[in-house]
Amino acid sequence: MEENKKNGNENIASEKTESRNFIEQIIDKDLEEGRFDHVQTRFPPEPNGYLHIGHAKSILLNYGLAKEYNGKFNMRFDDTNPTKEKEEFVDSILRDTKWLGADWEDRLFFASNYFEQMYEAAVKLIKKGKAYVCDLSPEQIREYRGTLTEPGKESPYRNRTVEENLELFENMKNGVYKDGEKVLRAKIDMTSPNINMRDPIIYRVAHMPHHNTGDKWCIYPMYDFAHPIEDAIEGVTHSICTLEFEDHRPLYDWVVRELEYPNPPRQIEFAKLYVTNVITGKRYIKKLVEDGIVDGWDDPRLVSIAALRRRGFTPESIKMFVDLCGISKSQSSVDYAMLEYCIREDLKAKKPRIMAVLDPVKVIIDNYPEDQVEWFDVANNVECPELGTRKVPFCKEIYIDREDFMEEPPKKYFRLFPGNEVRLMNAYFVKCVDYKKDETGKVTEIHCTYDPETRSGSGFTGRKVKGTIHWVSARHGVKAEIRLYENIVDEEKGKMNEDGTLNLNPNSLTILDNCYIEPNIADVKPEDKFQFVRQGYFCADMKNYSAKHPVFNRIVSLKSSFKLPKS
Ligand code: ATP
Ligand code: MG
Repeated sequence: MEENKKNGNENIASEKTESRNFIEQIIDKDLEEGRFDHVQTRFPPEPNGYLHIGHAKSILLNYGLAKEYNGKFNMRFDDTNPTKEKEEFVDSILRDTKWLGADWEDRLFFASNYFEQMYEAAVKLIKKGKAYVCDLSPEQIREYRGTLTEPGKESPYRNRTVEENLELFENMKNGVYKDGEKVLRAKIDMTSPNINMRDPIIYRVAHMPHHNTGDKWCIYPMYDFAHPIEDAIEGVTHSICTLEFEDHRPLYDWVVRELEYPNPPRQIEFAKLYVTNVITGKRYIKKLVEDGIVDGWDDPRLVSIAALRRRGFTPESIKMFVDLCGISKSQSSVDYAMLEYCIREDLKAKKPRIMAVLDPVKVIIDNYPEDQVEWFDVANNVECPELGTRKVPFCKEIYIDREDFMEEPPKKYFRLFPGNEVRLMNAYFVKCVDYKKDETGKVTEIHCTYDPETRSGSGFTGRKVKGTIHWVSARHGVKAEIRLYENIVDEEKGKMNEDGTLNLNPNSLTILDNCYIEPNIADVKPEDKFQFVRQGYFCADMKNYSAKHPVFNRIVSLKSSFKLPKS
C-alpha cells in the first residue's frame, strides 16, 4: 500500500519533467525561433497586502522558469498606485519571497523609479499622434465607451493637435488641473470589439503623495500602460500574469509596439490558484483581524505565506503543492487536503518523532520501584536513521492521553481498559488493575502493573498485545500549550452567510494548555518541527514559543482520506 503510493508519486514527478506545461512550450518555441535568446521573468506584487498561497504559485513559477532556462528573475514592486500602497508591505513581501526560496539576488526593482521614463513614453505617444488629453468626465468616458454589444463613441477631444496635447499633458504634470479634470488616453479604436482597446486611459491626475516619490508627481500611469513599460525597461522576456489580463494582452502588445521597444516582452496568462476552505481576500482577512477573530495576518489558520510559515508549513511543501497543482488555463479550486498531504510527505522522513500527551491522565505503575528511573534509547525517526537516537525517561508515574483509556470499551478497542494489557511505546507492557474517578465521573488516576520481562528491545516473545500507546513521564515531562486548528471556513457547509459575511467555523482553534511533552525539547527553537507520535506534525510557534512557555501549533494530523488525483 505504502509502496504503491510511492510509485504513484514518482510517476507523477517523472511525467511532469517529460511533458512540458504550456508556458514552457511557448518559451521553448520563442527560443527556438530566435524571438529571444534568453529568459527573464519577474514577480510584480503590488505592496498593498501580505502574500498568500496564490502568490506563492506565481513566485515559484516565475523563479522556477528563470532557473530552468538559466535566466534571470526580477523582484519588482508594482507601486504605481499611490492610493493603496504601504511601505510596511514591502518588507513582508521580501521576507516571504526569500523564505520561499526565490532569490532575486541584486535584481530588486520599484516601478515608481520608472515614472520619468513612463512620462517620456507618454510624450512619445502624443508626438506619434497615438495619445490625447481628454476633458470628458469619468462618467462621460464610461458612457462613450459603449458596451460589449455596442461600439463606443469618439471623444470630442480626440483630434486635438500634437502641440495642444503636449502642452495640456505638461500642464497635467505641473499640477494645473484637479483630480479627474483631465486624463491622457491612448488613441486606438473606439469600435474595437475589445473594450480595453477603446481609447483606454493611460495617465490620470491624482494629487496624492507617493511612498517612494513623495510629492514629485501629481499624475500617475494606469496599470495597463505602466506594466508593459516596466517589463520592457527591465528586459523581461516573458511577463506571466493571471487570466483576468488575457483581454488586456492586445493593449499590452500595442503599448510595447508603439513605444518601439526593440525586443518587446510577451505576456502569458495562466489560471489563478484557488484552494478550498481558505480565505485569501484581503477585505475578509482585514475584518477578521480587526474583529480579533484571528491573531493578525499570520494567524496559523490563514494561508498568507507568513501564516503558513507560522503554522509550520515548509517552503519545500509549498513547492511540492504548487508543482502538483500544475499550470493551466482553466480556473479550478484545489483541495486544502492536498496541501496537508504535501507537508506530511515533506516532514515524515525528516523530523524527529517524539511523545507528547495532549489530554493527560495519570497512570501509576504499582509494582514499579518508587525511586527508579530508566532511560530508554529511542530512535528519533525509524524512517531516517541519520536522525539518531535519544534517551527517554521512564518512572512509576506517567501520563497517557485520556482517549487511550476507557472504562467500558466497545468492541475492537485495543487500548487500555480494566483488565487489559497494552504496550507502552518504547517501554513495557502494562496491565490496568484499577482506576479512580472524581465526583463528576472523570477518570483521575489509572493503576497498572508492568511486566519487567517485556521491556522494548529485549527480544521478549512470550505473548503479544494488540494496542500500543504513547506516554510521557509525569516526573520529567515538560508542560506545554498546544494549539489545534481546523479550517476557518467549510466549503461544504457554505463559506458565506446570506448577509455576505463569512460562515466561520467556531472550532477553528482549540487551545490545550495542559499538555506534557517528553523532556527532550530543551534546545527547541521557534519554528522547529516534530511528529508527536500518533498525533500529527507540530511546529514550535514563531511568535509565542519560549523554553519557559512552550507553545506548539499542530500543522496537520497524521490521518487523511486524501488521495493524490491522477494526473
Ligand atoms: P490579491 O488581490 O489576491 O492579493 P493581486 O492580483 O491583487 O491578488 P498582486 O500583488 O497584484 O496581487 O499580484 C502579484 C502577482 O501575483 C501577479 O502577477 C498576480 O497575477 C499573481 N497572483 C495573484 N493572485 C494569484 C493566485 N491566486 N494564483 C496565482 N497567481 C496569483
Ligand atoms: Mg492587485
